[in-house]
Amino acid sequence: MSLITAIRETFLGFKSLLVGLRITAREASRPIITVQYPRETLKMPARFRGHIKLVLDPETGKPRCTACTLCAKACPSGCIVLDGVKREGDKKKSVSKYELDFTTCSLCGSCVEICPSDAIEFSKEYNVVSLNRDTFENMDLYAKIEAEARAWSAAHPAPPAASPPPAAAPANPTAPASQPLNAPAG
Ligand code: SF4
Ligand code: SF4
Repeated sequence: MSLITAIRETFLGFKSLLVGLRITAREASRPIITVQYPRETLKMPARFRGHIKLVLDPETGKPRCTACTLCAKACPSGCIVLDGVKREGDKKKSVSKYELDFTTCSLCGSCVEICPSDAIEFSKEYNVVSLNRDTFENMDLYAKIEAEARAWSAAHPAPPAASPPPAAAPANPTAPASQPLNAPAG
């Protein structure tokens, strides 16, 4: 190798090093766009469709579903099985069983659209995993909303019942009669 070739290659190597360092410095100063999954997770956008879920009424802490079965009838894949009961003191039926076969759900949204009570929506869960296929064939959505209802009850404890007013103290017959303020002295 001639001296001129050696000098030229050294110069080109040094130039390449500077270019690399400039790119590294530029990228190092940019905001971080990766998240440390699973310690951090991304917030799913509003239009994200996870599996459907029952919705809890934020006022009452109960599921909004009235077990009308419209969603099950509208589902083109027949993947919703539900049941309901009329509980004591309630005017309408309420859901008592709601199972989803997520292996055949196409996330078409017909069930969400037809529900007259806004009682189902798409969840934001994107990392549901299992080693057992049955977990997805029979997703127990009622069990999930029961857990939500228990958390709601824990966060909204019922106010203590109003205690009755204290009874008036009985009159003491041995006490001296009180003097009127304007009674004559002696
Ligand atoms: S999203 Fe579509 S396929 Fe899935 S449960 Fe609802 S209606 Fe059925
Ligand atoms: S989720 Fe809606 S459509 Fe389905 S049974 Fe309940 S109230 Fe009816």
